[in-house]
Amino acid sequence: MATPTKFKALVVEKTDDGQFVRKIRARCIDDLPQGDLVVRVSYSSLNYKDALSATGHPGVTRLFPHTPGIDAVGEVLSCESGAFAVGDTVVITGYDLGMETDGGWGELIRIPSSWAVRLPDGLTQAEAMALGTAGFTAALSVLKLERAGVTRSDGDVLVTGATGGVGTIAVAILARAGYRVVASTGKSADEQFLRNLGAAEIIPRDQVLAGSERPMMKERWAGCVDVVGGDTLAAVVKSTRYGGAVTCCGLVGSTELPVNVYPFILRGVSLIGIDSVKCPADIRLQVWEKLAEEWKPAHLQEMVTEVNLDGLEEKIAAILKGEISGRVVVRMT
Ligand code: NDP
Repeated sequence: MATPTKFKALVVEKTDDGQFVRKIRARCIDDLPQGDLVVRVSYSSLNYKDALSATGHPGVTRLFPHTPGIDAVGEVLSCESGAFAVGDTVVITGYDLGMETDGGWGELIRIPSSWAVRLPDGLTQAEAMALGTAGFTAALSVLKLERAGVTRSDGDVLVTGATGGVGTIAVAILARAGYRVVASTGKSADEQFLRNLGAAEIIPRDQVLAGSERPMMKERWAGCVDVVGGDTLAAVVKSTRYGGAVTCCGLVGSTELPVNVYPFILRGVSLIGIDSVKCPADIRLQVWEKLAEEWKPAHLQEMVTEVNLDGLEEKIAAILKGEISGRVVVRMT
């Protein structure tokens, strides 16, 4: 199929008085950055980072006009490097997509082919974006916990920020993999939602912090997927059992980490950093294959709200206020 020269995209523009406005408009393929791979996007998604890009946050995007969308899935229209054939279905998360490189909220993207992974057979395109960067990060976190030696028989695994994008999918993956999952949340109304995903126990956020003024806390967690950082992450590290492991991917609570060395030197606790953006290709493929098979969340569609480009405005505002539960998928076709 020939590559169209014009396509539809959501474009963020900076006005003369420094405001950022979002419009759906026609763009030209020549507007896109150089790259050896052109993909017709069928679905994208909404992540917190996309909302920052869409509202002009300079920590994500500095060059405008810009099309956000850090996740994309779709069909290969051309690939100069030969890494993919025309018609292959590929999924892209991370690298620079949607940041300074125009992203998945446009019908076409042009990128380096090294950013793309062939979509495994066990996932539809919509499912791949129900997972997106959030699901990839959750799965990478679980992979790293298991590599650090955490097993189902070790005890409870905690997920913080459990109703968010990463948390939701971490709960579902861990439950599917047979762990007893404890979900920490600030949204008491979402208890049933979390139980449906497979959480065995729901605790309010504050409970994780109980006793955290002490240098060490009672041993409680075999492992944890943390998205919050700050006092929450410090308390989790202090209450992780001997030989346990904790992953750190987020900063929704704080970027600080007020912890001491005792959990590491007296209990052998591991604190593991998670980066989904530059994750090497071999691990990236392994994570997507697990997401398509043994870790595929059982109730993926129940976590998803689907919108088109017109429906994004309301969802951008909601995610910035922490009001979204689950994942928002953007249909581009
Ligand atoms: P969301 O906004 O979807 O979810 C975050 C959740 O954290 C909220 O739903 C809420 O859940 C909880 N939360 C929000 N504010 C606070 C607070 N002040 N204190 C404690 N809990 C809070 O974000 P994502 O799940 O998409 O991302 C989570 C984090 O992970 C972000 O910081 C993001 O930047 C980061 N991230 C990092 C990646 C990496 O590669 N390192 C990749 C992807 C994301 P609840 O109400 O249930 O407690």
